[in-house]
Amino acid sequence: MSDKLGVFGNPIKHSLSPRIHCLFAEQTGRSVDYQRLLVSPHGFPKAVARQFSQGLAGANVTVPFKQVAYQLVTQHMGSAAHSGAVNTLISAPHGGLIGANTDGDGLVAALKSKGVSLAGRRILLLGAGGASRGVMPALNAEKPDVIWVWNRTVERAEQLASLFNSARVLRHWSDAHKPDLIINATSASLFGESLSLPEHVIDADTLGYDMVYSRDATVFQSQFKASGGGVCFDGLRMLVEQAAVSFSLWFSCDKPKTEAIYHQLRNELAKLD
Ligand code: NDP
Repeated sequence: MSDKLGVFGNPIKHSLSPRIHCLFAEQTGRSVDYQRLLVSPHGFPKAVARQFSQGLAGANVTVPFKQVAYQLVTQHMGSAAHSGAVNTLISAPHGGLIGANTDGDGLVAALKSKGVSLAGRRILLLGAGGASRGVMPALNAEKPDVIWVWNRTVERAEQLASLFNSARVLRHWSDAHKPDLIINATSASLFGESLSLPEHVIDADTLGYDMVYSRDATVFQSQFKASGGGVCFDGLRMLVEQAAVSFSLWFSCDKPKTEAIYHQLRNELAKLD
């Protein structure tokens, strides 16, 4: 019998997570039934309770529910306890739900796979939602020089900074804030929206990372290039890497191998209409 898994989110139809977990299952000789679970803005707690009562063994949580998921679980695992955001739900053996966050490990693994080291670097993190919170512990662990956090709603950036001493809320861009790496953890690209980028501190040595992925360049990747930035990666590798950690938590197994699956997905994405 297949293990029932899924991903809760809104929007969700773009998600490649079902395909990724199907490939992990093939690689590890398991059978999984992984569904996209579209949830209305206020329907997350009920949807989670219903799905787990109907046999869901584990789930991912994506935009915009990671902070609500944190409130819902009965036990936090690892960095999720500190970050206030959960992207992985695991059915606890004696009832209730365990919440973990694998986004940070996924992002750092993705950057390392591209040869990017974060030690001593100045990072500008755009966004202060669940994804930003989730990656902060792993970014901190790499010992960057500074992490500036900018968010459209400044109060959310302040809330994030109250959890992480290393985060410096950026209200106005100035020449003093010249980042080595800009990470876009907003959902702007997902909705085809552009951001106002600090063009005067971006040059060809500035690296970019958009957590969103798409067949063609994301809005952020295009904007970053137009602003004079250097290489800018999309979030596909991060998606695969964070999924591998989630899979290992659900099945208490080693992390599936990701390299070949990442390239396979990149090829499949290129062929999508
Ligand atoms: P949330 O809904 O929790 O947060 C959304 C964030 O985006 C907020 O900071 C919000 O700002 C900001 N935002 C949205 N639209 C705009 C805009 N037009 N201009 C400026 N800021 C904007 O989402 P998550 O944090 O969970 O996810 C963020 C993105 O990261 C999503 O697109 C998600 O798909 C992606 N992601 C990808 C992963 C991967 O593995 N590749 C993993 C995790 C996330 P405000 O507070 O002002 O509303």
